[in-house]
Order: sequence, then C-alpha cells, then structure tokens
Amino acid sequence: MESIGVLMASPVNPYLEQELDKRFNLFRLWEYPSKPEFLKSHSQSIRAVVGGVSAGADAELIQALPKLEIVASFSVGLDKIDLPKCKEKGIKVTNTPDVLTEDVADLAIGLILATLRRICECDRYVRKGLWKKGDFQLTTKFSGKTVGIIGLGRIGMAIAKRAEAFRCPVSYYTRSEKSDCKYKYYPSVVELASNCQILVVACPLTGETRHIINREVIDALGPKGFLINIARGPHVDEPELVSALIEGRLGGAGLDVFENEPYVPEELFKLDNVVLLPHVGSGTIETRQAMADLVIGNLEAHFLNKPRLTPVI
Ligand code: NAP
Repeated sequence: MESIGVLMASPVNPYLEQELDKRFNLFRLWEYPSKPEFLKSHSQSIRAVVGGVSAGADAELIQALPKLEIVASFSVGLDKIDLPKCKEKGIKVTNTPDVLTEDVADLAIGLILATLRRICECDRYVRKGLWKKGDFQLTTKFSGKTVGIIGLGRIGMAIAKRAEAFRCPVSYYTRSEKSDCKYKYYPSVVELASNCQILVVACPLTGETRHIINREVIDALGPKGFLINIARGPHVDEPELVSALIEGRLGGAGLDVFENEPYVPEELFKLDNVVLLPHVGSGTIETRQAMADLVIGNLEAHFLNKPRLTPVI
C-alpha cells in the first residue's frame, strides 16, 4: 500500500501521522506553501483524504481529486465533509464513532460541574492568594437539577446516564421521539429549554442545527439556566450568547466548542459565569489513539477490499 496517496487536510494527531507514514504515501497539505500548486502536481495520486474537526473534504477539494475513493474522518462529526458530493461521486466516507463517546460525556459532566460550582474560578482564587482575605462566594448545586439534552444519540445518551447518577431528571429533543426511552421528550428546542435548568447540546452540526441555540432558546433557558455545548460551535448564535451572558439573561455557559475556533469572543474572557475549553471533548491519549486506529483500520480495509470498520456511506 506504500504507493497509495493519502492526503491529510490538517494536522490532527502525531501517532496517526506516524502510522499513516509507515503504510501509505502520506501528503501533509499544510506543509505545502500553495494548495493549488500541490493539487496541480499531486491530484492524480491521491486516493484517500484524512479529515478532522478543522478541515475535511469540501466540494472544491473533492472536485480537485479525480482519483479520490475514500474520506476517513478523525472525528465522529461529519460537518467538514460534503456528504452529498461524496455520494454523487461514489466516494466512501468513514468516521470514528463510539470510541470517543465516554470521554465526551465525561467532559460534559465536568463542564457542568465546573460551570455551576465555578471550579476554575475557585482555582484562580486560591492561586491569587485571595482565600486569606475571605471565603469564596456560594455557588449553585448540580445534583437534582433538570437536564435537557439536544440530540440523544451515543453521546447524548451517555450524558443522560451520567446525569441520572446525579439524580437529575433528564429530558431531550431530537427530530423524532425515541421509542423505548424513559426520558421525557419535548417536540421543540424552546419547549425543552423552558423546562430544564441545564441545556446540553449533543447533536450533529447540519444545516438544520446551525444556530439551534438562538435568542429565543436562550431566553427560554433564562437567567438561572445554563448552556453546555460539547457538540460544535456553530450550533450557537455566539453574539446572542455573549450579549445574554453580559446582560444577565442567561445564568452561565460551559463551552468546549466555538463558532470560529480557535478564535473565542474576547468578551467571554471577562466573565466569571463561563468556562471555556479548547475543543478537548475526545482529547485523551487513549481515545485519540483508538480514533487513529479506526482511521487506519478503515483505510486498510478499503484498500484490501474488506468491509470497513465504521462506514458512513
Ligand atoms: P449520534 O449518535 O449520531 O447522535 C446524534 C443525535 O442527534 C441523535 O439522537 C439524533 O436524533 C440527533 N439529531 C440529529 N439531527 C438532529 C436535529 N436536526 N435536531 C435535533 N437532534 C438531531 O452522534 P454522537 O456520536 O452522539 O455525536 C454527536 C455530535 O457530537 C457529533 O456530531 C459531533 O459534532 C459532536 N462531538 C463533539 C466532540 C468534542 O470534542 N466536543 C467529540 C465528539 C463528537 P434524530 O436523528 O432522531 O434527530
């Protein structure tokens, strides 16, 4: 397989790069000063693209690679891949589901606790020597609060199970009600937000879910409500979120993802009722290695004409 051209759109994981280098003819797009020049010289030899959360395979890249057979994403989210274009051209797509579910759900609970109990601010308080001057302010309880989840798939369900252990009544919104599900279903995001204290976003980013958190939803959640986003930044209308937090129309927010990451609205830096993370939902050594192994396994299976491990299309 050493002669098969594999293109990585952006750096995602050193172990993955090293293992792909051993097996394929790996091209790192970011190492080339000009993308058009790169494509002019190498487009005929690229048979696979490895994408991730920041770059995948858009219509332009797919169009520029006439020999492309497969896009293997180092992520479960497919929002950086033009799926209709892949379907139209018969290009296969794989992702990395399941192996990251626990880490992302763990992080969602961590973000809830950090936001409601102000754990990061407490840490800053101690480090700055402020404890000597007085006790830290009282915060608000997590256990028993109502949790609403948008998207009750692998990750949403894992968050629900964890929230149950904190005695939290769980409700959810998805496009259709799940049969055999013990959690309360609301047929709209606004109804869900009106009936929960902590709203967690855990659905895929699509045309339908872009800005699913808008002013109406934020106002329904209200000044005592908390928004937790571990899905994708563009789910949230960020200027609306920032103004609601500044004006006290929303209680607080815990965010792992941002609309234009790695750029984060600087107004948020001044607020104590937010916790800001650099998109680390699946960011453990163990999980990133499992994701890398899935990408490699999918590519090897495809080029050996065997069933892929985690096919999308
Ligand atoms: P999944 O198993 O496919 O679950 C997706 C859930 O979202 C399903 O319950 C689905 O139900 C629901 N959904 C789909 N479209 C919807 C819509 N328009 N409105 C409301 N709900 C909708 O996916 P997953 O493995 O749980 O992953 C979910 C997302 O988490 C990924 O797409 C990714 O963007 C994000 N993620 C983030 C990180 C991170 O590092 N922060 C890591 C991994 C994943 P219906 O089809 O019934 O609507």
